[in-house]
Amino acid sequence: MSEVFDVTIIGGGTTGMYAAFYSGMRDLKTKVIEYQPDFGGKVSFFYPEKKIYDVGGFPGVTGEELVTQVKDQANLVEPVMVQGEKIQSIEKLEDGSFRLINKNGGEHLSKAIIIASGMGTFDMQPLQVEGSETYKKEQVHYTIQNLKQYEEKKVVVISQSRVGIDWSLALENIADEVHLINRGEEFKAVYEHDMDQLKDSSVKVHLIQEVEKLHGDGHTMTSLTMKDGTELKVDHILVYEGLNIEKSMYAEWGLETEKGRIPVGTDMCSTIEGIFVAGDAAIYPSKTMLIATGFTEAMAAVNSAAMYLDPRAKSQVYSTVIYKYADQ
Ligand SMILES: Cc1cc2nc3c(=O)[nH]c(=O)nc-3n(C[C@H](O)[C@H](O)[C@H](O)COP(=O)(O)OP(=O)(O)OC[C@H]3O[C@@H](n4cnc5c(N)ncnc54)[C@H](O)[C@@H]3O)c2cc1C
Repeated sequence: MSEVFDVTIIGGGTTGMYAAFYSGMRDLKTKVIEYQPDFGGKVSFFYPEKKIYDVGGFPGVTGEELVTQVKDQANLVEPVMVQGEKIQSIEKLEDGSFRLINKNGGEHLSKAIIIASGMGTFDMQPLQVEGSETYKKEQVHYTIQNLKQYEEKKVVVISQSRVGIDWSLALENIADEVHLINRGEEFKAVYEHDMDQLKDSSVKVHLIQEVEKLHGDGHTMTSLTMKDGTELKVDHILVYEGLNIEKSMYAEWGLETEKGRIPVGTDMCSTIEGIFVAGDAAIYPSKTMLIATGFTEAMAAVNSAAMYLDPRAKSQVYSTVIYKYADQ
Protein backbone atom coordinates (compact mmCIF):
# COMPACT_ATOMS: atom_id res chain seq x y z
CA MET A 1 0.00 0.00 0.00
CA SER A 2 1.41 3.41 -0.98
CA GLU A 3 2.06 6.03 1.70
CA VAL A 4 -0.63 8.73 1.85
CA PHE A 5 0.63 12.31 1.37
CA ASP A 6 -1.19 15.49 2.42
CA VAL A 7 -0.40 17.25 -0.85
CA THR A 8 0.79 15.80 -4.15
CA ILE A 9 1.86 18.24 -6.83
CA ILE A 10 1.64 17.17 -10.47
CA GLY A 11 4.39 18.94 -12.42
CA GLY A 12 7.88 19.93 -11.31
CA GLY A 13 8.28 23.18 -13.23
CA THR A 14 9.11 26.37 -11.34
CA THR A 15 5.52 26.55 -10.06
CA GLY A 16 5.39 22.93 -8.85
CA MET A 17 8.76 23.14 -7.08
CA TYR A 18 7.85 26.41 -5.38
CA ALA A 19 4.48 24.90 -4.35
CA ALA A 20 6.46 22.02 -2.81
CA PHE A 21 8.52 24.44 -0.75
CA TYR A 22 5.48 26.38 0.41
CA SER A 23 3.54 23.22 1.22
CA GLY A 24 6.46 21.86 3.26
CA MET A 25 6.83 25.23 4.97
CA ARG A 26 3.22 24.80 6.09
CA ASP A 27 4.18 21.38 7.52
CA LEU A 28 2.21 19.41 4.96
CA LYS A 29 3.62 16.05 3.88
CA THR A 30 4.40 16.79 0.26
CA LYS A 31 5.31 15.00 -2.95
CA VAL A 32 6.05 16.40 -6.43
CA ILE A 33 5.77 14.24 -9.55
CA GLU A 34 7.49 15.34 -12.76
CA TYR A 35 7.30 13.63 -16.13
CA GLN A 36 10.69 14.77 -17.42
CA PRO A 37 13.93 13.22 -16.12
CA ASP A 38 14.80 16.67 -14.68
CA PHE A 39 12.87 19.37 -12.85
CA GLY A 40 12.39 22.90 -14.19
CA GLY A 41 9.58 22.67 -16.76
CA LYS A 42 9.53 25.19 -19.60
CA VAL A 43 12.39 27.23 -18.13
CA SER A 44 14.78 24.25 -18.31
CA PHE A 45 13.39 23.10 -21.61
CA PHE A 46 13.22 26.27 -23.67
CA TYR A 47 15.58 28.86 -22.25
CA PRO A 48 17.98 27.52 -19.59
CA GLU A 49 20.90 29.60 -20.89
CA LYS A 50 18.97 32.87 -21.38
CA LYS A 51 18.72 35.63 -18.79
CA ILE A 52 15.36 36.29 -17.15
CA TYR A 53 14.87 39.86 -15.88
CA ASP A 54 11.31 39.91 -14.53
CA VAL A 55 11.46 37.70 -11.44
CA GLY A 56 11.41 39.82 -8.28
CA GLY A 57 14.73 39.92 -6.46
CA PHE A 58 16.75 38.76 -9.49
CA PRO A 59 17.99 41.62 -11.67
CA GLY A 60 18.97 39.09 -14.34
CA VAL A 61 19.28 35.34 -13.73
CA THR A 62 19.72 32.53 -16.23
CA GLY A 63 16.94 29.96 -16.49
CA GLU A 64 19.29 27.28 -15.19
CA GLU A 65 20.34 29.37 -12.15
CA LEU A 66 16.72 30.14 -11.31
CA VAL A 67 15.71 26.48 -11.53
CA THR A 68 18.64 25.54 -9.26
CA GLN A 69 17.57 28.17 -6.70
CA VAL A 70 13.92 27.08 -6.76
CA LYS A 71 14.96 23.44 -6.42
CA ASP A 72 17.29 24.26 -3.50
CA GLN A 73 14.46 26.19 -1.85
CA ALA A 74 12.12 23.18 -2.25
CA ASN A 75 14.77 20.86 -0.82
CA LEU A 76 14.86 22.93 2.40
CA VAL A 77 11.60 21.25 3.39
CA GLU A 78 12.57 17.83 2.00
CA PRO A 79 9.54 16.96 -0.12
CA VAL A 80 9.52 13.63 -1.95
CA MET A 81 10.57 14.55 -5.51
CA VAL A 82 9.68 11.95 -8.15
CA GLN A 83 11.00 12.39 -11.67
CA GLY A 84 10.39 10.58 -14.95
CA GLU A 85 6.78 9.69 -14.11
CA LYS A 86 3.72 10.85 -15.97
CA ILE A 87 0.39 10.99 -14.15
CA GLN A 88 -2.18 9.51 -16.46
CA SER A 89 -5.34 9.43 -14.36
CA ILE A 90 -6.80 10.55 -11.03
CA GLU A 91 -9.48 8.73 -9.02
CA LYS A 92 -11.33 10.13 -6.02
CA LEU A 93 -11.66 7.43 -3.35
CA GLU A 94 -14.58 6.90 -0.97
CA ASP A 95 -12.81 8.61 1.95
CA GLY A 96 -12.32 11.76 -0.19
CA SER A 97 -8.61 11.18 -0.84
CA PHE A 98 -7.11 10.63 -4.31
CA ARG A 99 -5.30 7.89 -6.18
CA LEU A 100 -2.97 9.20 -8.90
CA ILE A 101 -2.00 6.58 -11.45
CA ASN A 102 1.07 6.84 -13.65
CA LYS A 103 1.59 5.61 -17.20
CA ASN A 104 2.85 2.21 -16.00
CA GLY A 105 -0.03 1.67 -13.57
CA GLY A 106 1.95 2.71 -10.45
CA GLU A 107 -0.04 4.65 -7.85
CA HIS A 108 0.38 7.58 -5.47
CA LEU A 109 -2.10 8.37 -2.69
CA SER A 110 -2.85 11.88 -1.53
CA LYS A 111 -5.43 13.82 0.48
CA ALA A 112 -5.14 16.85 -1.80
CA ILE A 113 -3.66 17.56 -5.23
CA ILE A 114 -2.11 20.67 -6.74
CA ILE A 115 -2.02 20.64 -10.52
CA ALA A 116 1.06 22.55 -11.69
CA SER A 117 1.47 20.70 -14.96
CA GLY A 118 1.31 23.66 -17.34
CA MET A 119 -0.24 22.85 -20.68
CA GLY A 120 0.69 19.16 -20.47
CA THR A 121 3.81 17.22 -21.40
CA PHE A 122 6.25 17.83 -24.23
CA ASP A 123 9.17 15.87 -25.63
CA MET A 124 11.93 16.80 -28.01
CA GLN A 125 11.95 15.02 -31.37
CA PRO A 126 14.64 12.40 -30.85
CA LEU A 127 17.73 12.14 -33.01
CA GLN A 128 17.07 9.30 -35.47
CA VAL A 129 20.63 8.13 -36.00
CA GLU A 130 22.18 4.75 -35.34
CA GLY A 131 24.03 4.83 -32.03
CA SER A 132 22.30 7.90 -30.57
CA GLU A 133 20.60 5.81 -27.85
CA THR A 134 23.99 4.49 -26.70
CA TYR A 135 25.48 7.95 -26.13
CA LYS A 136 22.30 9.57 -24.83
CA LYS A 137 22.50 11.66 -21.64
CA GLU A 138 26.29 12.11 -21.45
CA GLN A 139 26.92 13.21 -25.03
CA VAL A 140 23.61 13.67 -26.86
CA HIS A 141 21.60 16.55 -25.40
CA TYR A 142 18.21 18.08 -26.13
CA THR A 143 18.61 21.25 -24.06
CA ILE A 144 21.61 23.48 -23.50
CA GLN A 145 22.22 23.15 -19.76
CA ASN A 146 25.46 23.20 -17.82
CA LEU A 147 27.56 25.24 -20.26
CA LYS A 148 30.73 24.22 -18.40
CA GLN A 149 30.57 20.72 -19.88
CA TYR A 150 31.17 22.20 -23.36
CA GLU A 151 34.36 24.08 -22.42
CA GLU A 152 37.14 23.33 -24.94
CA LYS A 153 34.98 20.56 -26.49
CA LYS A 154 33.97 19.82 -30.06
CA VAL A 155 30.24 20.39 -30.36
CA VAL A 156 27.82 19.61 -33.19
CA VAL A 157 24.40 21.29 -33.13
CA ILE A 158 21.69 19.69 -35.27
CA SER A 159 18.77 21.97 -36.07
CA GLN A 160 16.78 23.64 -38.80
CA SER A 161 15.53 26.34 -36.47
CA ARG A 162 16.63 29.58 -34.80
CA VAL A 163 17.08 27.58 -31.58
CA GLY A 164 20.06 25.85 -33.22
CA ILE A 165 21.57 29.21 -34.18
CA ASP A 166 21.06 30.51 -30.62
CA TRP A 167 22.74 27.45 -29.13
CA SER A 168 25.65 27.58 -31.57
CA LEU A 169 26.28 31.26 -30.82
CA ALA A 170 26.00 30.68 -27.07
CA LEU A 171 28.69 27.97 -27.36
CA GLU A 172 30.95 29.71 -29.84
CA ASN A 173 33.24 31.24 -27.21
CA ILE A 174 33.06 28.31 -24.83
CA ALA A 175 33.61 25.28 -27.03
CA ASP A 176 36.74 24.49 -29.01
CA GLU A 177 34.72 24.09 -32.23
CA VAL A 178 31.03 24.41 -33.10
CA HIS A 179 29.42 22.86 -36.18
CA LEU A 180 25.77 23.54 -37.05
CA ILE A 181 24.12 20.91 -39.26
CA ASN A 182 20.83 21.77 -40.98
CA ARG A 183 18.88 19.26 -43.10
CA GLY A 184 17.35 22.11 -45.09
CA GLU A 185 18.62 24.81 -47.40
CA GLU A 186 17.84 27.55 -44.88
CA PHE A 187 16.89 28.12 -41.23
CA LYS A 188 13.26 28.40 -40.08
CA ALA A 189 11.84 31.27 -38.00
CA VAL A 190 15.01 33.39 -38.19
CA TYR A 191 15.48 37.14 -38.34
CA GLU A 192 18.05 38.80 -40.57
CA HIS A 193 20.20 39.72 -37.57
CA ASP A 194 20.37 36.03 -36.50
CA MET A 195 21.84 35.16 -39.90
CA ASP A 196 24.21 38.15 -39.72
CA GLN A 197 25.45 37.05 -36.30
CA LEU A 198 25.91 33.51 -37.57
CA LYS A 199 27.89 34.74 -40.61
CA ASP A 200 30.13 36.85 -38.36
CA SER A 201 30.76 33.94 -35.99
CA SER A 202 33.23 31.06 -36.10
CA VAL A 203 30.38 28.50 -36.23
CA LYS A 204 30.81 26.15 -39.19
CA VAL A 205 27.44 25.77 -40.91
CA HIS A 206 26.61 22.67 -42.97
CA LEU A 207 23.41 23.09 -45.03
CA ILE A 208 21.52 20.23 -46.71
CA GLN A 209 23.44 17.83 -44.51
CA GLU A 210 22.43 15.11 -42.08
CA VAL A 211 24.23 12.93 -39.58
CA GLU A 212 24.40 9.40 -40.88
CA LYS A 213 26.40 7.56 -38.23
CA LEU A 214 27.94 8.06 -34.80
CA HIS A 215 31.28 6.42 -34.04
CA GLY A 216 32.74 5.40 -30.70
CA ASP A 217 33.49 2.43 -28.51
CA GLY A 218 29.98 2.10 -27.10
CA HIS A 219 30.87 4.25 -24.05
CA THR A 220 32.37 7.36 -25.61
CA MET A 221 31.35 8.87 -28.93
CA THR A 222 34.36 10.29 -30.75
CA SER A 223 33.15 11.29 -34.23
CA LEU A 224 30.26 11.29 -36.68
CA THR A 225 29.84 10.94 -40.41
CA MET A 226 27.60 13.26 -42.40
CA LYS A 227 25.56 12.27 -45.47
CA ASP A 228 28.31 13.41 -47.85
CA GLY A 229 30.85 11.20 -46.09
CA THR A 230 32.61 14.01 -44.18
CA GLU A 231 33.74 12.92 -40.71
CA LEU A 232 33.65 15.39 -37.82
CA LYS A 233 35.30 14.85 -34.43
CA VAL A 234 32.70 15.34 -31.70
CA ASP A 235 32.41 15.36 -27.90
CA HIS A 236 28.81 16.59 -27.62
CA ILE A 237 25.79 16.74 -29.90
CA LEU A 238 22.90 19.12 -29.25
CA VAL A 239 19.65 18.36 -31.06
CA TYR A 240 16.65 20.62 -31.64
CA GLU A 241 14.36 19.22 -34.32
CA GLY A 242 11.07 20.45 -32.84
CA LEU A 243 8.67 19.23 -30.16
CA ASN A 244 6.12 16.49 -29.72
CA ILE A 245 3.43 18.12 -27.59
CA GLU A 246 0.88 15.91 -25.86
CA LYS A 247 -2.15 17.94 -24.87
CA SER A 248 -3.18 18.23 -21.25
CA MET A 249 -5.47 15.54 -19.83
CA TYR A 250 -7.45 17.85 -17.55
CA ALA A 251 -10.84 17.11 -19.16
CA GLU A 252 -10.16 13.36 -18.85
CA TRP A 253 -9.44 13.92 -15.15
CA GLY A 254 -13.00 15.25 -14.81
CA LEU A 255 -12.00 18.94 -14.60
CA GLU A 256 -13.67 21.83 -16.33
CA THR A 257 -11.32 23.27 -18.97
CA GLU A 258 -10.94 26.42 -21.00
CA LYS A 259 -8.45 26.54 -23.88
CA GLY A 260 -6.76 23.44 -22.44
CA ARG A 261 -6.33 25.02 -19.01
CA ILE A 262 -8.29 24.90 -15.75
CA PRO A 263 -10.51 27.85 -14.80
CA VAL A 264 -10.06 28.97 -11.17
CA GLY A 265 -10.87 31.86 -8.84
CA THR A 266 -8.35 33.66 -6.61
CA ASP A 267 -8.35 30.67 -4.20
CA MET A 268 -6.99 28.44 -7.02
CA CYS A 269 -9.72 25.83 -6.33
CA SER A 270 -10.80 23.64 -9.24
CA THR A 271 -14.34 22.31 -9.64
CA ILE A 272 -13.28 19.11 -7.82
CA GLU A 273 -13.03 19.52 -4.04
CA GLY A 274 -9.47 18.79 -2.94
CA ILE A 275 -7.86 19.63 -6.32
CA PHE A 276 -6.09 22.99 -6.62
CA VAL A 277 -4.30 24.58 -9.57
CA ALA A 278 -1.30 26.91 -10.07
CA GLY A 279 0.93 28.28 -12.80
CA ASP A 280 0.39 27.94 -16.54
CA ALA A 281 -2.24 25.23 -15.91
CA ALA A 282 -4.60 27.82 -14.39
CA ILE A 283 -6.73 30.37 -16.21
CA TYR A 284 -8.80 33.35 -15.02
CA PRO A 285 -9.47 36.86 -16.36
CA SER A 286 -6.32 38.97 -16.91
CA LYS A 287 -4.03 36.01 -16.20
CA THR A 288 -0.33 36.51 -16.95
CA MET A 289 1.66 33.44 -17.99
CA LEU A 290 4.84 34.24 -16.08
CA ILE A 291 7.14 32.53 -13.60
CA ALA A 292 6.33 34.99 -10.78
CA THR A 293 2.60 34.50 -11.39
CA GLY A 294 3.09 30.78 -10.77
CA PHE A 295 4.85 31.49 -7.45
CA THR A 296 1.96 33.62 -6.15
CA GLU A 297 -0.63 31.11 -7.35
CA ALA A 298 1.34 28.27 -5.74
CA MET A 299 1.07 30.06 -2.36
CA ALA A 300 -2.69 30.56 -2.81
CA ALA A 301 -3.16 26.92 -3.89
CA VAL A 302 -1.19 25.61 -0.89
CA ASN A 303 -3.09 27.90 1.52
CA SER A 304 -6.40 26.62 0.09
CA ALA A 305 -5.17 23.02 0.37
CA ALA A 306 -4.08 23.61 4.00
CA MET A 307 -7.55 24.93 4.88
CA TYR A 308 -9.22 22.07 2.98
CA LEU A 309 -7.16 19.54 4.97
CA ASP A 310 -7.76 21.32 8.27
CA PRO A 311 -10.48 23.98 8.43
CA ARG A 312 -8.70 25.48 11.48
CA ALA A 313 -5.53 26.14 9.46
CA LYS A 314 -4.45 29.77 9.02
CA SER A 315 -5.28 31.34 5.66
CA GLN A 316 -1.66 32.47 5.32
CA VAL A 317 1.65 32.33 7.19
CA TYR A 318 4.85 34.41 7.22
CA SER A 319 8.14 32.61 6.62
CA THR A 320 9.81 35.11 8.95
CA VAL A 321 8.07 33.56 11.94
CA ILE A 322 9.06 30.05 10.89
CA TYR A 323 12.60 30.19 12.18
CA LYS A 324 13.50 26.54 11.64
CA TYR A 325 15.11 27.07 8.18
CA ALA A 326 16.98 30.21 9.21
CA ASP A 327 20.51 28.75 9.36
CA GLN A 328 20.33 26.23 6.54
C1 LIG B 1 10.30 30.86 -24.87
C2 LIG B 1 9.68 31.30 -23.58
C3 LIG B 1 10.20 32.39 -22.90
C4 LIG B 1 9.64 32.81 -21.69
N1 LIG B 1 10.20 33.87 -21.02
C5 LIG B 1 9.72 34.22 -19.80
C6 LIG B 1 10.33 35.29 -19.05
O1 LIG B 1 11.27 35.94 -19.51
N2 LIG B 1 9.82 35.57 -17.82
C7 LIG B 1 8.77 34.87 -17.26
O2 LIG B 1 8.37 35.15 -16.13
N3 LIG B 1 8.16 33.87 -17.96
C8 LIG B 1 8.61 33.53 -19.20
N4 LIG B 1 8.00 32.51 -19.90
C9 LIG B 1 6.82 31.84 -19.30
C10 LIG B 1 7.26 30.85 -18.23
O3 LIG B 1 8.25 30.00 -18.77
C11 LIG B 1 6.07 30.03 -17.73
O4 LIG B 1 5.04 30.88 -17.28
C12 LIG B 1 6.50 29.11 -16.58
O5 LIG B 1 7.60 28.32 -16.98
C13 LIG B 1 5.33 28.22 -16.15
O6 LIG B 1 5.78 27.34 -15.16
P1 LIG B 1 4.85 26.14 -14.67
O7 LIG B 1 5.68 25.42 -13.65
O8 LIG B 1 3.52 26.63 -14.31
O9 LIG B 1 4.64 25.22 -15.96
P2 LIG B 1 5.77 24.36 -16.83
O10 LIG B 1 7.05 25.08 -16.76
O11 LIG B 1 5.10 24.11 -18.09
O12 LIG B 1 5.92 23.05 -15.96
C14 LIG B 1 4.94 22.05 -15.98
C15 LIG B 1 5.63 20.73 -15.72
O13 LIG B 1 4.63 19.72 -15.56
C16 LIG B 1 5.09 18.52 -16.16
N5 LIG B 1 3.91 17.70 -16.47
C17 LIG B 1 2.91 17.99 -17.36
N6 LIG B 1 1.97 17.02 -17.33
C18 LIG B 1 2.40 16.10 -16.41
C19 LIG B 1 1.87 14.85 -15.95
N7 LIG B 1 0.71 14.38 -16.43
N8 LIG B 1 2.57 14.16 -15.01
C20 LIG B 1 3.76 14.63 -14.52
N9 LIG B 1 4.30 15.81 -14.94
C21 LIG B 1 3.63 16.53 -15.86
C22 LIG B 1 5.83 18.99 -17.40
O14 LIG B 1 6.76 18.02 -17.84
C23 LIG B 1 6.50 20.28 -16.90
O15 LIG B 1 7.80 20.05 -16.42
C24 LIG B 1 8.52 32.10 -21.14
C25 LIG B 1 7.99 31.00 -21.81
C26 LIG B 1 8.57 30.59 -23.03
C27 LIG B 1 7.98 29.39 -23.73
